[in-house]
Amino acid sequence: MKKFLVDNSRKNEIPKMLYKLIHSFGPITKIGLGQHIQLKPTTMTRLIDELLQAGFIREAGIGLSSGGRPPILYEVIETAAWIIGIDLSRNATRIVLTDVNLNQVEQYTIRMTSIHTPDVVFDEIRTVIKKWLIEHKISNDRLLGIGVGAVGPILRSEGKIIGPESFLAPGWEEVSIPQELSEFATVLTVDNGANSAAIAEFYFYDELYSNIIYCINGYGIRGGVLHDGKVTSHRQGDTSALGHVIVQANGNTCVCGNRGCLSAYASIAVMIEEFKAVSGRSCDSVEDLLAEVQTGNEKAVSIVKEAAFYMGIGLANMVNTLRPELAVLHGPLVYGTSFFFEEAIRGAKAHIYSKEISLPVFKEGSMREQAIALGSAIQLFQSFFNFIQQKSPP
Ligand SMILES: [Zn+2]
Repeated sequence: MKKFLVDNSRKNEIPKMLYKLIHSFGPITKIGLGQHIQLKPTTMTRLIDELLQAGFIREAGIGLSSGGRPPILYEVIETAAWIIGIDLSRNATRIVLTDVNLNQVEQYTIRMTSIHTPDVVFDEIRTVIKKWLIEHKISNDRLLGIGVGAVGPILRSEGKIIGPESFLAPGWEEVSIPQELSEFATVLTVDNGANSAAIAEFYFYDELYSNIIYCINGYGIRGGVLHDGKVTSHRQGDTSALGHVIVQANGNTCVCGNRGCLSAYASIAVMIEEFKAVSGRSCDSVEDLLAEVQTGNEKAVSIVKEAAFYMGIGLANMVNTLRPELAVLHGPLVYGTSFFFEEAIRGAKAHIYSKEISLPVFKEGSMREQAIALGSAIQLFQSFFNFIQQKSPP
């Protein structure tokens, strides 16, 4: 299967396009496929036969007849190939195994603490992947690849993390992901996790909105942007810019050295420091902070509420600049508290310019914690078909 998908020769272009159409629209008949791709009936039949023979697709019953013989439906065989998705974030690393239909089959989470250096984390990642490959009897040709959504900045061309902020353990200054995963000798994509999560939202919700901003409130703050369903990114894949929009002139000093950045008001790292300072209690992780909020600690609640409001101001800056149709908010406090989302949206609405014209739809991330890992798997799958998009007319 991988051999088929990595083959970008002219000869393989049409078969791959056909496979992609069955993947997107199946179960689908030849007539249905003919609405998306112009092929002679004999060519269509031959190519479908080849895909059937190869074990990539199967017959899936009978479609509606338009008078003549009822047509056969085709769909992809979901276990014909597999994909690994990895979310490498500062508070957790999540690994998922999906089938080729992007259904999540396995998932594994590593909580990131001060002992989780790149060596420790990638050791565990490799062990988990190897275990799954054995358990699901996945040969090298059926592992399509590994998609990674990481913390930026990323040197895209080399798949390298460079100088990210706020990892709890040392050693993350420069990490080559292809090197760490080289033993799997497979296709690898690396993007910033916020972009990956935005792709997941787009993909799993039927591409209802194609202009999306995806804002992550984590140890740092990240924002992914989709324009017309495509990631907008610069070479370094650094979506942490959202964390450093200015929400307060001459305000608090940020980890980046500037003053008044969103991160200095709304990142989990800052909330934890502030809570420790005002309460004198120990608090080392977002789980600790959440526990304080959930038991009604007033100081914790008020710190998190204020941070949420600032998060909303950052969101408003993004909305004012990019005018998305959909604005998604993601993060452990978004999902773990009853008020973070509402408070952030209140902050956003109070600062969005000409709000009566085109307010975006606001929502919490639908894929919740799995969004980045699943989005990375989707990006890996889509990477096999990029050459088609490049060639199609605008
Ligand atoms: Zn900053």
